[in-house]
Formats: sequence, C-alpha cells, structure tokens
Amino acid sequence: MLSISEALQHMLGQLSLRMTDEQIPLSAAVDRILAADVISELDIPAYNNSAMDGYGLVVNEVETKTRLHTFEVIGEALAGHPFQGKIKRGQAIRIMTGAAVPEEVNAVVPIEDTSLDSHTREMTVLNSFKIGQHIRRRGEELSQGARVFARGHQIRPVDVGLLASLGIATLNVYKPLTVALFSTGDELVQPGQPRRSDQIFDSNRFVLHAMLERAGFNVLNLGLIPDNEMEIADAFVAAASRADAIVCSGGVSVGDADYTKQVIEKMGNVGFWKVAMKPGKPFAFGQVNGSWFFGLPGNPVSATVTLQQLALPALYKLAGKLSTPPLLIHAVAGEPLKKRPGRADFQRGVLKTKDGINQVFSAGPQGSGMLSSICHANCLIRLSNEQGSVQPGEKVTVEILQAPYF
Ligand code: AMP
Ligand code: MG
Repeated sequence: MLSISEALQHMLGQLSLRMTDEQIPLSAAVDRILAADVISELDIPAYNNSAMDGYGLVVNEVETKTRLHTFEVIGEALAGHPFQGKIKRGQAIRIMTGAAVPEEVNAVVPIEDTSLDSHTREMTVLNSFKIGQHIRRRGEELSQGARVFARGHQIRPVDVGLLASLGIATLNVYKPLTVALFSTGDELVQPGQPRRSDQIFDSNRFVLHAMLERAGFNVLNLGLIPDNEMEIADAFVAAASRADAIVCSGGVSVGDADYTKQVIEKMGNVGFWKVAMKPGKPFAFGQVNGSWFFGLPGNPVSATVTLQQLALPALYKLAGKLSTPPLLIHAVAGEPLKKRPGRADFQRGVLKTKDGINQVFSAGPQGSGMLSSICHANCLIRLSNEQGSVQPGEKVTVEILQAPYF
C-alpha cells in the first residue's frame, strides 16, 4: 500500500500539461488562475488621504500635548474635492474620510474630539493627539512595482476588489482545465428515472461535478456508463479527445464487473494503487489516450474524499495553480473515536469551539457508503496510519471544511 503522501508525490512528479492563456475582463476573473504575476502600477493609497471625518491641522509637537488648543478653520476638503489653498500654522480645514490631505497638514483630529464655534469659525481640540494620526499615507498598503499576486494564484472575490482598486480591467489567466466526468455501474440509475428494486441512484456524479466546478474547472459530464467493455472504451475515447483530464468513479477495484479497470489496462498507462487511507484505498492514476486519468472508488464517501485529498491537488497542478496545503488545527476529542491502525483515517467530524477550546465529535456512522456522514460534518478528523482508537480528551488533528466566503 502507498501512503497518501507517496501517492501525491508520484502524481505531482509526473503531471504536466501545455497550458494556454487568455485575456479576460476582471468581472469574469473569480476562480480563474493567473498566468502571470500581477504587478502594481500604482501606489495604494495613491495619495495621502484622511481616515476620519474631522479637521486637518498644521501643528507642532507642543500643540499636540496642550488640550484646548484653538485653530482657525479656513476651508474644506471632501472626497473627490481637494482643498485648493494654503494652510498655515494655527489653521485647520474640515476634512472628510477619503479626501486628499494637503501637503502641509500633519494630523487629522476626528470631529468627536473637537468643538466648533460657528460664529468665529474657531475650532478647539478637546483631547491630546499625535502628529501624523488618521492620515492614510500614499503607498502604505502597496507601492508601485510591488507584486500583488503571483502566477498560479486562484482569484477570489476579494482579490477582484484589490485588482479593481489598482485600475486593472483585464487579466491574463490560464484557460480552464477541462475535466470529463462519468460514472460506471449497472446498478446505477439517473435520478428522475424509474428504479428497479435492486438499483441505486447515481449520486457520485452530482457530488463530483459540483466539486470540480467549484474548484474552477470546466466539467464535461458524460453521464452514466453501463458495466460494458465496449461502452466504457467508447466513453474513454470520447473523454480523452475532448478533455485534459478524466475523472470517473467505480470499477477500479478488483470485483468481477470492474470493467473500467479491464478497459484501461488495454488502453492506457495507468497504475492501480492501494492507498493507505480510509475512506478510499483503490485509486487509479495515469494516462489514457493522452488525457490524465483519475479513477476513484465507487463508494460515495470514498469517491468524495479521494477526489478532495488526491485528485484535486493533482488537477490543480495541471490547471497551473500554486499548491495550497490544507489548514489543520488541533482539537480535543469530545467522545471516543474508533480506529484500527494500518490506514490514515479521514473521519467525518463536527467541530465546535467553546470558550476558546476546539472540541470535535463524530459526525455519525462512518461507513464509506454513507454520504450523510459528510453532509453533517464540518471537518475531517485526520488520524495517522499507526494511530489506534482515540479516547475522549485526546488531542487530534482536524481539517476544517468551509465554504469559501471571501
Ligand atoms: P465499485 O467501486 O464499482 O465496486 O463500487 C463500490 C460501491 O459504490 C458499490 O456499492 C456501488 O454500488 C457504489 N457506487 C459506485 N458508483 C456509484 C455512484 N456513481 N453513485 C453511488 N454509488 C455508487
Ligand atoms: Mg461498479
């Protein structure tokens, strides 16, 4: 059996793809992968501006310490409407958030810390303050020429905002990876179709399709293929001619009707691995007619977890994405967790944080056919090969499963 890291190393060492890039508008950039570094052509902020609604002052150090110092208010600066005149010591302008701070102004005092005499236009500062306060300095966030994002970065919603703030309207990204997907199995029926009593609905294709799409790939859904050598072979030929990679679930084990395996053994250069992980174990990787192939086990939890742990890192590499290792945290087991030494477990768990302590519980029965165990989970409890059962109170490693919000 291969360990998970050996399996990943094998794949990542072999994978390569000649990628093409394209120019796209910023509004279409979310989930796309940068084909070139993005360099800032601007300082951000581009000009000194106020961080508060208040008064911009010309002061010396002594005046910051004396309370109740009075200034003559000579004008106003609004966002988009700078103050045009000159300001001398002892004078102030009203200034609003985002307005340009004139060269000579060296502090902004928030409105709440002042009082204005509307007859004399004299403003009194009620509290002590610091030179330089509440001024957002040109270039303090990013300076012109700085690398904002590296090639291989996958664009998130907040990144689009940062790029927009730099005035960038188009981006150079890789063409999305096309991944062909199909299910195999005579017992499978498409939801919505009549089901015989000895059949089950095809669920893997729905999960895998959604996961691949969310990862940013272009999914070519080739449907449900029966356990028939000719039809499986045809599906592979069609998939390889149109896709960079093929993902299928089921049929890669050693059962009598595992035709996928038999077909690929004739057509491709594929390794059938036993990976020391649970759920999972059977996993196939290689090339079929020039397309990269990932054969996932048929059991729904195994298919999902092997896609996430093994196939996705490989597909991301093909797509040109920089690798992002999972974020792992420690948690205390809130109840006993059954485990046999020998394989690395990815148990579906429910993580709760209370009073700063992370506690993790089992998400329910852990059978590799029970998809509900993932539906009710918010984390994977990662238990190493050699580890045995876990007692309540023991420390375990947890991988958080969260939807990407930003
Ligand atoms: P296999 O890997 O083909 O031996 O399948 C292992 C188990 O997973 C069997 O119980 C199959 O019925 C089930 N299975 C295979 N493919 C799917 C699928 N697409 N949706 C749901 N269950 C599946
Ligand atoms: Mg099967």
